[in-house]
Amino acid sequence: MQQADHEIEDRLFRNVMGSFATGVTVITTEVAEEVHGMTANAFMSISLNPKLVAISIGENAKMLQHIKDAKQFAINILSSDQEIVSKQFSGQLNLKSEMTFESYKGLPVLEGSLAIVTCVLHSEFVAGDHTIFIGHVTGVQLEEKAPLLYSQGKYRELKELEG
Ligand code: FAD
Repeated sequence: MQQADHEIEDRLFRNVMGSFATGVTVITTEVAEEVHGMTANAFMSISLNPKLVAISIGENAKMLQHIKDAKQFAINILSSDQEIVSKQFSGQLNLKSEMTFESYKGLPVLEGSLAIVTCVLHSEFVAGDHTIFIGHVTGVQLEEKAPLLYSQGKYRELKELEG
């Protein structure tokens, strides 16, 4: 049975979407020599040839305009010891002076990340109250670390199942 938008409560919709376990990223970019970052878990791989990835940014996030201005961005896939970094870039902490960035492919990236993906802006699509940015990948880095996970509103660690 199909349900109209208004028949599905926002809280229930959020809870259902939040039950889909994800990794955690911080999107970083630079505009007029100022570095900006934002925590995001709406990230996916799109295409292998050409290499494309997608992120989804809410209409009220400052990062939306920063990506439009910079036309490039980095996705920092966080490791299990970077919960504090996720909290900083989602506005839950104020540790601005403690965040240090390295430079990779002309973009600021976060040291200690599990992986880095740098992109130039390929295309963008407004979908409801979010904009989906597609990035054409210009570089990748991978470290041997465990991922930080997010599910049902909590940070979690990966656990291998037996058998
Ligand atoms: P701001 O509010 O300006 O920045 C966010 C925070 O980052 C601020 O506290 C700021 O001080 C800090 N910061 C920015 N730049 C720097 C810097 N150079 N050095 C140090 N600190 C800095 N929202 C989405 O739109 N899409 C998603 O996919 C998404 N996924 C999320 C996943 C998780 C697990 C969480 C917790 C939040 C997610 N959010 C997502 C929400 C989003 O992270 C917040 O709404 C965020 O505050 C929006 O940031 P902003 O771009 O408006 O910038």
